[in-house]
Amino acid sequence: GVLVSLHDFTDIKRMELARVDFLANASHELRTPLTSLSGFIETMRGPARDDPEARDRFLEIMQGQADRMRRLISDLLSLSRIELVEHRPPEGEADLAAVVVEARDALAPVAKERGVELRVTGVTGAVNVTGVRDELAQVVQNLIDNALKYSEKGGVVDIEVLAGLGPDEAAALGGRRWDDAGRMSIVTAPAGGRARSFAVLRVSDGGPGIERQYLPRLSERFYRVDQGRGLKPGTGLGLAIVKHVVQRHRGALLVESEPGRGSAFGVMLPMADAA
Ligand code: ADP
Repeated sequence: GVLVSLHDFTDIKRMELARVDFLANASHELRTPLTSLSGFIETMRGPARDDPEARDRFLEIMQGQADRMRRLISDLLSLSRIELVEHRPPEGEADLAAVVVEARDALAPVAKERGVELRVTGVTGAVNVTGVRDELAQVVQNLIDNALKYSEKGGVVDIEVLAGLGPDEAAALGGRRWDDAGRMSIVTAPAGGRARSFAVLRVSDGGPGIERQYLPRLSERFYRVDQGRGLKPGTGLGLAIVKHVVQRHRGALLVESEPGRGSAFGVMLPMADAA
């Protein structure tokens, strides 16, 4: 007799390719500030040796590049930590409303500096969801941070917390700020979950918005719509972290955006008391 054994390695191959791709991107992202640092060190040792004014300016740029490397490494570590545990649902409980207030307080100085108002509305009491506080804090912080970053001076960032919603109600409210905006679901809550009651966090801004065709790529690692060449460009990892945390928490993530009007990100999380 003859035994024919066929194996489909497509998924494994695809994962390997994604890994190689990720390493190449991460290395490239880290090399850019490093190259700039080396360049400035050379200049300061040579042509700018006796120019204190230039030295001060260069040191400031170097500080910015070092900060950028630190942000990248910290985001890369967060991402790999969450990916390691992603297949295991969280066990503890966390108060989403408290996490939001903490994030707002932590980012208040940034908001002030940028001339943007942070407005928290919705439930004021405890909103207990099944989850890990630190991971949820990263979700909330990354979303508020982005909303702040892309807001104009004088703008408002709205942070809304809702609790005790049914799955359909939560899904609908998660991303329905503007009727005619582009809308996309980045993470869909798994069907057949035990939770019957959900909390929703919505962070919206009146920034430049994101064109519809870019929405599907937002949570890809290192993806940036606008390559942001300023002194403090993002890492492109913030929304990837948000996505993985939401996936681990068996929640949902929606984005709604319209160029010229703003962006709204909605997160839906299973509530603890209903699990
Ligand atoms: P970054 O560190 O670059 O902000 P993210 O993963 O958090 O990385 O976001 C990816 C990209 O999505 C950003 O570079 C930006 O182009 C776009 N983006 C995210 N949030 C907003 C927002 N609130 N308004 C406009 N664009 C946004």
